[in-house]
Amino acid sequence: MNLPRIHLIATGGTIAGVADDRASTTRYQAGSLAGHALLEAIPEVHGFARITISQPFNLDSKDLGPGHWLQLARDVAEALVDPACDAVVVTHGTDTLEESAFLLDRLFAPGKPVVLTCAMRPASAHSADGPLNLLHAVQVAASGVTRQTGVVAVINEQIHAASRLHKRHTRALDAFEGGDSVIGWSDPPSLDLGPETPARLPGLLSSLSELPRVDVLWVGAGSEPDLMASSISHGARAIVLCLPGNGSLPAVWLDAVKKALARDVIVVRSSRTGAGRVTPQPGDGPMLFASGRLTPPQARIALMLALAGQLAPAHFF
Ligand code: ASP
Repeated sequence: MNLPRIHLIATGGTIAGVADDRASTTRYQAGSLAGHALLEAIPEVHGFARITISQPFNLDSKDLGPGHWLQLARDVAEALVDPACDAVVVTHGTDTLEESAFLLDRLFAPGKPVVLTCAMRPASAHSADGPLNLLHAVQVAASGVTRQTGVVAVINEQIHAASRLHKRHTRALDAFEGGDSVIGWSDPPSLDLGPETPARLPGLLSSLSELPRVDVLWVGAGSEPDLMASSISHGARAIVLCLPGNGSLPAVWLDAVKKALARDVIVVRSSRTGAGRVTPQPGDGPMLFASGRLTPPQARIALMLALAGQLAPAHFF
């Protein structure tokens, strides 16, 4: 049978997690099983695709950072240019799935499917969600329905757009529910919504050797603005402020923001509300601007990519 050829990149997470007993869903070691062990749990996957596997690392996604992201992006790029590969599936932890998904989405033009998946329950648990998520991710990738959408994540029977992916719950099985990221369903693979066309820069990856430091600072009522000076002194080239409401900058932060701008540090006003667009305000400009519909983690990555690629700071917004 001429099945699609899928390259699986296993990176760790709870989907590869193991606990001491089958009832444990919160006490386990993420990134314990290798990619081939994840496939052994779903033998029927071989009826949908011919699969090759690589494993750049096997980590809890809370421990990933810019170096891992670039390594993952290079592995995805290598698979995508291989004529013997029709689609890529990535297994990943849920905690920072949205960062990796956003980065990959901005670096690759739509074409061969790139599908991420994950799990909320460790592989050792009764009713673990990882096996079905991975099986569905392979089915979606093999079907080609996401060829025009850019990067997606298949989680809990739903296809989520990487552009809007956001983990919203600490432990619920449907931890990514409740936003506007769902664009389709995995069984059978189908889309309810058409593709978006965010700014993407497929040529950028080859010129990236590292990503610059960009910090996110969470601002509560009465939070001290001296955190900005600390970030800048530690090398931050841009700062995403996670602000109340519509990216509302407290008066006591104005001076610190001015000082940052004077040192060519970009400042983005994002929101801690978790939903809605942050709109432009008088006083915004090319170095101080609103995050629009990007979440604080997405705004951070958008700035890292723009700075590394010497693009206008707002390029990926
Ligand atoms: N801490 C885990 C991780 O992100 C959580 C998960 O995968 O659900 O790797």
